[in-house]
Amino acid sequence: MRLISDPAEMRKIAAQLLADGALGFVPTMGALHRGHMSLVTASRARDRHTVASIFVNPKQFGPTEDFGRYPRQFDADSALLADVGVEALFTPAIEAMYPAGFSTKVSVEGLNSKLCGASRPGHFDGVTTVVAKLFNIVQPTRAYFGQKDAAQVAVLRRLARDLNFDIELVICPIVRDPDGLALSSRNAYLTREQRHAALSLSRALNQARADIEAGERDAERLRRKVIDTLSANIDLRPDYVEVVDADNLLARKTVEPNTLIALAAFVDGTRLIDNLLVDAAFRVLM
Ligand code: AMP
Repeated sequence: MRLISDPAEMRKIAAQLLADGALGFVPTMGALHRGHMSLVTASRARDRHTVASIFVNPKQFGPTEDFGRYPRQFDADSALLADVGVEALFTPAIEAMYPAGFSTKVSVEGLNSKLCGASRPGHFDGVTTVVAKLFNIVQPTRAYFGQKDAAQVAVLRRLARDLNFDIELVICPIVRDPDGLALSSRNAYLTREQRHAALSLSRALNQARADIEAGERDAERLRRKVIDTLSANIDLRPDYVEVVDADNLLARKTVEPNTLIALAAFVDGTRLIDNLLVDAAFRVLM
């Protein structure tokens, strides 16, 4: 696996790989777990070549958020990626991505203030700015993202459409631990007790899934019940629970195909997210 930190070199290598066949791209912030690796596996299965990136993007963290202590484990990550056949790993320095005088912001207006964008002002602008840069550098055939970050998926689909990126976005299912907890690099912050408290997120969504499968279609009743389940846990502080259209992230009154129930909650200082999606056949994916 080639380790590349220079954007110009990454561009050159990616173009060489693409000339030989479809190129898949998996952007990450590292601290890799089975969720990230599922994206790599999907690309390896579908594309001739796979490139990954690790960049802890300062622009998507708020001033009081965890940028400084975000888990960084480069050696373990790069060994994992090399093992599964990733051909190039792009790990730019902050100064390479945002050199002195950097002054451009890519902003998907409207969507950027929904869900996590409401509680994390500027977060999605940071995401879309870095993803636009990564797309321009790598110019892959396909880029792989996780359904775990459902609002990010909506924002990135709009970005790709609005800016005519000729890149297919492939969205992969949420990978969970056997007890239901969605994998996240931030789970590393949790003590045993906090991790136990965090199980309420998937439990609340599982309840909503059962209700939807039993025919419940009233969005506000479902939302209230999820909030009540989260609030019943004194070790959790709900941030938001929303029932929305998965594409435009606007609130829905009834559950229809493409309805997303998304939530965020704090366990002590750690902010966790989770969601479920109702597909075209009213199946609940989570
Ligand atoms: P991150 O390193 O947190 O920026 O995540 C990089 C990519 O991995 C994003 O597209 C995430 O949505 C995806 N991802 C993170 N956790 C999971 C998970 N549990 N299941 C599936 N994809 C995930």
